[in-house]
Amino acid sequence: MNSRVARSLSLAEKTGGTALLAAVPLGCSTVPQTAAIPLTLFLLACLIAPFLPRWSFFLPLISRGGQNARGVALTFDDGPFPASTPMLLDLLARHRLPATFFVIGRQAAAHPELIAAILAHGHTIGNHSSRHDNLLMLRSSKALADDIRATQEILAGMGIRPLLFRPPIGITSPRLRPALASLGLTAVTFSCRIFDRGNRNVRNLAARVRSQLQPGDILLLHDHPPFDEEASAVWTGELQRLFAYLAETGRVVPLAALIDHPVMVAVEKQP
Ligand SMILES: [Zn+2]
Repeated sequence: MNSRVARSLSLAEKTGGTALLAAVPLGCSTVPQTAAIPLTLFLLACLIAPFLPRWSFFLPLISRGGQNARGVALTFDDGPFPASTPMLLDLLARHRLPATFFVIGRQAAAHPELIAAILAHGHTIGNHSSRHDNLLMLRSSKALADDIRATQEILAGMGIRPLLFRPPIGITSPRLRPALASLGLTAVTFSCRIFDRGNRNVRNLAARVRSQLQPGDILLLHDHPPFDEEASAVWTGELQRLFAYLAETGRVVPLAALIDHPVMVAVEKQP
C-alpha cells in the first residue's frame, strides 16, 4: 500500500483519544465543567469533517500529489454518458491528455461500450459508487459496502478492478474506512474544483481552472452532459480552450503517476 495512506489510526481516532485524555484531568479539576470543552471540539470536528474533501479525518485519503509533485491530474466524475463521454474522449485524444474517469456503476452497466472506449483510449477508471446517492455516507455500513461492491462487480465484468474510490460529492464518514478496506480500495478526492455543479455551471470553466490550478493538484471535472444545447456548446468550447492550455503547459500526468498509486488493474472478465 502507498505509504501516504498506510496509517494505523485515523485522525478521528487520534483526535478522539486526545480529547478524552484532555477531558479526564479537566473533569477532576476544580471546574469539572471544562471537561466538556475538548469533547465538544471533537464533536464539532466530526460534524464538519465529512464536508472537507481534503481532510483525512475519518480515514486516510489522497486529495493531491505529493509535496514535490509538479504535474496535475485530470479526473471526470459521474459518467459515462453517450452525450458526453465520446466527445470528451475525442478532445482528450486530440490534445494527447491522459485522464481518469470515476464512473457510476449504473451508468457503466447501461453503457459498457463507453467503458471499453475509455480503456481503449488509454485512460483509467475508478469507482464513484453505484447510483451517486448523495446520502450514501449516512447509510448503514452494509448498504455502503454493498453499493461500492456492486460497482466493483459491474466493472469486473468489463475486465477491470478499480483500486480507487471517490465518494459522491466528496463526503466521507467513519463507515467508509472498513467498507473500502474490505474491497481493497483507497479513497481519493480532489484538490482543485471549480464548482461546475455537475456541468450545470460551465461558463468561464477554462479561465476558472487556469486561475486556480496549482502544481500537484487533482482537478475535478464532470463527464455529464450539460442540461441544454446552449450549455453543451459552451461546455465544449470551454473544454477545447482548457485542454489546449493544459497541453501547452505539458503539466498533465496520469493520476497514478501523480499520486504514486495505481488507479485500477486488469482482471479476467467475470460473467
Ligand atoms: Zn460525483
